[in-house]
Amino acid sequence: MNEIQLHDKQFSVSIDASKINAAVQSVADRINADYKGKNPLFLVVLNGAFMFASDLLKKVTIDCEVSFVKLSSYSGTKSTHIVRELIGLDEALTERYVIVVEDIIDTGITMENTIQKLIHLQAADVKIATLLFKPKSFRKNYTIDYIGLEIPNGFIVGYGLDYDGLGRNLPDIYKVID
Ligand code: 5GP
Ligand code: MG
Repeated sequence: MNEIQLHDKQFSVSIDASKINAAVQSVADRINADYKGKNPLFLVVLNGAFMFASDLLKKVTIDCEVSFVKLSSYSGTKSTHIVRELIGLDEALTERYVIVVEDIIDTGITMENTIQKLIHLQAADVKIATLLFKPKSFRKNYTIDYIGLEIPNGFIVGYGLDYDGLGRNLPDIYKVID
């Protein structure tokens, strides 16, 4: 299944499952080394990160906790920037070591917003783990602590990421054919 069609677009395999697995393992190895004895709280950003989080957490061997948040977006009243709320965060973050788990960081705007909210909730430390990163698209200057794979610009689907609802269940990552 090297090429697939979702809605009106054609996609071809870009990163296969074994390459994804190696990237997930390398993120887990680094987290296992850095967080021993710290009982980090993984905060998984739904929906896109569900598959990465599931595979990552099976490879995390230290004590840890896991929670899930969703981002709702709506137009802000003060500017044209999108204001996002974290939904579903029911733990106290005070003094916690938080690791935000994302599927992909593109421009970086979404994650910047999320981090600001978590710092406001007085987490002791907030770090970022993303499976995918598009360095040529990134417009911010914060540090992304754990990156699975750097990828070129271009729309991808699979392994949690969707195109208009479809494609999240695919075990490989596909890139749109222009
Ligand atoms: P950012 O705010 O960093 O520009 O974008 C972050 C969000 O945009 C991601 O969490 C994801 O939902 C979406 N996104 C960015 N690039 C892609 C892509 O190539 N494919 C899909 N399916 N979603 C993407
Ligand atoms: Mg996402």
